[in-house]
Amino acid sequence: MEEIQLGLTFDDVLLLPCLSTILPGQADPSSQLCPGIPLRLPILSAPMDTVTEVDMAIAMAREGGLGVIHRNNRIDDQAAMVAKVKRFENAVITKPITVTRDMTLLQVKRIMDEHGFSGFPVVDADNKLQGIITGRDMRLFEGQKLGQMTVADVMTPREKLITGTPGTTQEEARKILYSNRIEKLPLVDANGCLAGLITETDIQKRDAFRNSTKDELGRLRCGAAVGPGPEFWDRAQAVLEAGADALFIDAATGHTSRVLEVVSKLRELGKPVVAGNVVTQDGARDLVAAGASAIKVGVGPGSICTTRIISGVGMPQFTAIQEVAKITRPAGVTLIADGGIRYSGDAVKALAGGADLIMLGGMLAGCEESPGAVVHYQGRNFKTYRGMGSLGAMRAGSSDRYGQNASGKMVAEGVEARVPYKGMLGDVIYQLVGGIRSGMGYLGAKDLAALRDHARFVRITSGGLQESHPHDVTITEDPGNYSR
Ligand code: IMP
Repeated sequence: MEEIQLGLTFDDVLLLPCLSTILPGQADPSSQLCPGIPLRLPILSAPMDTVTEVDMAIAMAREGGLGVIHRNNRIDDQAAMVAKVKRFENAVITKPITVTRDMTLLQVKRIMDEHGFSGFPVVDADNKLQGIITGRDMRLFEGQKLGQMTVADVMTPREKLITGTPGTTQEEARKILYSNRIEKLPLVDANGCLAGLITETDIQKRDAFRNSTKDELGRLRCGAAVGPGPEFWDRAQAVLEAGADALFIDAATGHTSRVLEVVSKLRELGKPVVAGNVVTQDGARDLVAAGASAIKVGVGPGSICTTRIISGVGMPQFTAIQEVAKITRPAGVTLIADGGIRYSGDAVKALAGGADLIMLGGMLAGCEESPGAVVHYQGRNFKTYRGMGSLGAMRAGSSDRYGQNASGKMVAEGVEARVPYKGMLGDVIYQLVGGIRSGMGYLGAKDLAALRDHARFVRITSGGLQESHPHDVTITEDPGNYSR
């Protein structure tokens, strides 16, 4: 009988410090999803229906990571979420939402409420700019019958508008907006047609988050999950049409003939395809050969996951990362460590052990920006967090991730749970990145490549793990980055 391989996870190992000239603040944890998509932070939020929708994807991209919108929804709903992220912050809004002169103010108000924007260019049937209408124009008429007044009655007409041209740069726009004390600059081409819009809000948002993950048009980036089921093609096309920057194939095991087929087919769409999940060299080799731009590693490490207990299958996450890295590193393909990260120290071990990026579910599910309301339980605040293989999530649409039919009786591979409410994502990321930088400082690593080079691991025992955590004391104050 073949010798049984030893599988280790984060708690089984520690990194050794080495001679360092790097202070944590000097360490640069930037990485990339694939060539052309750099990330200032090596962090992704998981495509789960209690983790990543619009608010989380926006917040993740603003911090310098990337959010992946889940697919437990109708195709058009997922595409609409992607579109919202892409529209949130624009250098130039290339296809602004417009209204026409004959619309009633009530109609405009509905569009405003739906999109949360404060003003729209007014165009005719040929897209010629006629004017602009803003919330301020409408407020003047509050209390009056908005259903009886039209856009033409209140808009600022074309002749009074200050406009730019399609070639107007960011800096020029900033000057025009400030010197004229206006908030919106429509861009008009030589034929008088609307060619774009630059807004004061977008400029302010950009200034506030300088590390944001953005595309070449200055829009925040986001990923979108696509399942291996029959609808994968329609879903992929819809989310790409909405502006998604990468497709993430979402399957409990990525080492199936079906996922390999889906990877090759999706590559035809010309955007990065992230595939998974695998934990073996064979699995990684096949996904690389099928054309995956990045590979997700992890079968069963997730905090809400019961896959290993129910199916008996998986690999402790630290060894899984090391195994897959043997294939992805020489192939130049990104490795994403997906699941099982509970502390910043786990993130450091994952990155030092071979991962380029980490994907988080449980660590982010308690954030304000994750979907769902805060629930009070026994005097404390929580948010719901559930596995995509839990009965609730599978009934809502994710059953094909686990090869199951939602109309029959299902066998769960995840649980429905709650996690403590943690407040804003920015604070959680601050602590997490602080821990990653600290680890890099101990190893004298100025960047993640150096972290991998300098990494020497020691295997520890349960005694060592016990010693690692606070022990023989009662913690009296929450340090903000540790709980057990
Ligand atoms: P966490 O960060 O430890 O909470 O793990 C999140 C990861 O768990 C996700 O990115 C998925 O890869 C995985 N996952 C999500 N739902 C389930 C499930 O129901 N069963 C098994 N794994 C899951």
